[in-house]
Amino acid sequence: MEFESMSAAQIRASIIKGEFTASDIAEYFLKQAKAENSRLNCIISFGDSYAARAAENISQKIAAGLAPGKLAGVPIVIKDNLITKDLRTTCASHILEDFIPPYNATVIESLLKQDAIIIGKANMDEFGMGSSNEHSYFGRVPNPIDPEYVPGGSSGGSACAVASGLAPLALGSDTGGSVRQPASFCGIVGLKPSYGAVSRYGLVAFGSSFDQIGPMARTVEDCAILFSVICKHDPRDSTSANYVRPDYLEALKGRKKFSIGIPREYMAEGIDGEVLKAVQDAIEKAEGQGHEITEISLPHTKQSIAAYYTIANSEASSNLSRFDGVRYGYRSTAIDDLAEMYIRTRSAGFGAEVKRRIMLGTYSLSTGYYDEYYLKAAKVREIIRDDFDKAFNEVDLIITPTSPTTAFKLGEKIDNPLGMYLSDIYTVSASLAGLPAISIPCGKDNKGLPIGLQIIGKMFREDEILNLAYNLEREIGYNLKQ
Ligand code: GLN
Repeated sequence: MEFESMSAAQIRASIIKGEFTASDIAEYFLKQAKAENSRLNCIISFGDSYAARAAENISQKIAAGLAPGKLAGVPIVIKDNLITKDLRTTCASHILEDFIPPYNATVIESLLKQDAIIIGKANMDEFGMGSSNEHSYFGRVPNPIDPEYVPGGSSGGSACAVASGLAPLALGSDTGGSVRQPASFCGIVGLKPSYGAVSRYGLVAFGSSFDQIGPMARTVEDCAILFSVICKHDPRDSTSANYVRPDYLEALKGRKKFSIGIPREYMAEGIDGEVLKAVQDAIEKAEGQGHEITEISLPHTKQSIAAYYTIANSEASSNLSRFDGVRYGYRSTAIDDLAEMYIRTRSAGFGAEVKRRIMLGTYSLSTGYYDEYYLKAAKVREIIRDDFDKAFNEVDLIITPTSPTTAFKLGEKIDNPLGMYLSDIYTVSASLAGLPAISIPCGKDNKGLPIGLQIIGKMFREDEILNLAYNLEREIGYNLKQ
């Protein structure tokens, strides 16, 4: 079997059986990623020393008769807004172009403990701001199915790497859809966990009340394996939730019967016909599996984009104030005084989209506008939460499309920020409510571009989402047949 078509579980099992060593895997995937990267541009920095250290640890464990970790020898790509000790972490921004962090994010520590092989840091939209990976200081990433199209964003590099076989696993981050939408555009699985399920310690903040790190993989099982490694309470993140996590691999077993809601607002105007048909077909298959399907209403869906972009940008404008040229990262040298240093550093260090968002966010937080914008958006967020609470009194899970369209063309929306923002319509509501949601492939359009289906669950019920996703994947069989 070719290494690149193996699942995480298969790679680990083969290493334990002694069919090949962790160094064989590390060397193969690093070499392959380096060769492919000139075409794909999905890796910003390679993780050679991490990979070599992990391979060495695994061999030592095996030689000593100890069981290697849950991700022993499994290659993984890490979105470049996750802090990695001694390995450059740029957030795809000029301002952090040479930033070498002195510590690891909690999720990185968890991966290392389980002997994962870090192949590299993935390209992304600068600071996570975007839906197409075109807002990267390090350049665009093509869609792996057709290079004329975008891979989605902001975790576009992570999604492209997994879909192209550079690694079976990746970590992304999702503020308003950045794990789910690129997963959908690239034909892979991506889970945004419940807010508080995964530690944000060491994730460079964008919209702190939304940000969650999420697993990306080719199959639901691999996604569940990675999720089980990173889903933990962490005292270093004050928003990390302390509850007993179930066994997410056990959660895949059996076919639980769910009552599933289909929000009528999502299957209406603005959706592409082929996307609608593929999602409807999948819903029929779910019905065939014995789940009960009902139409529900999420009446404030239309307001979700405005609320999300107001709050996320407000939080971003505050979070990004730390990049001032004083403490770390790029500093402009063409300066006479401190104020000028701040201005020149930030003017040259941030890209256009990031500056747009800082300005929008600062505006909605400023005196005189705060009540009108930020506070109003915060109220709308509560109303959207209420909509979900009501829906989840009736149903266990909600199925929607992940995105109204398949991948759009490179350059198509780059000069139309509002058009780009509107494409997030199906992902931002779950983010506003903090709810868990997965995207799984459910078909392709006539150009061969993947279509994604989203399953939204109750707070901390990733186990239910994963069970339905796993059973639907068995039937739709998208990546399993490839
Ligand atoms: N596309 C959304 C935005 O630009 C979501 C980004 C994200 O989830 N990081 O804000």
